[in-house]
Amino acid sequence: MRYTLPEFLAHALAMEAEAAERYLELADMMEAHINLDVAAIFRDMHRYSVMHRDSIKERTADFELPQLRPGQYRWVAPTEVGEEDGFDYMMRPHNALQYARDNEASAMVFYQTVAGRSDDPEVRHLRAEFAAEEKEHTEALDAWFDRVPPS
Ligand code: ZN
Repeated sequence: MRYTLPEFLAHALAMEAEAAERYLELADMMEAHINLDVAAIFRDMHRYSVMHRDSIKERTADFELPQLRPGQYRWVAPTEVGEEDGFDYMMRPHNALQYARDNEASAMVFYQTVAGRSDDPEVRHLRAEFAAEEKEHTEALDAWFDRVPPS
């Protein structure tokens, strides 16, 4: 589809809100695993997501946002967990990083490709900015893989 600005912003807003929620859950999960380093990373990611979500929200003030179906923005559960909503509280730090990384990467791909098919110059501008941001998030998580080997 070709995204209009309100459609694009609705997606971006939903994706960041979802990310914020997931990072909070992941941080709590890592604390349950007594892995405070990884918990701290997820708390940072949570903060970035909240900031990004709020700044997108400001941009949407003038629009009526379209309703989205959950499948259009929800994080995809890791395969070993199975269910969409069921979070595995035994997820190990390495898997949690992998999970977050996969979802950051798919956000990046969304901005790079799907959202790129727009005639609106504002969408094209924003999606480039947001794709760069998601790339940074992906790389930040990548940097942790070597430090948190699979157990
Ligand atoms: Zn991100």
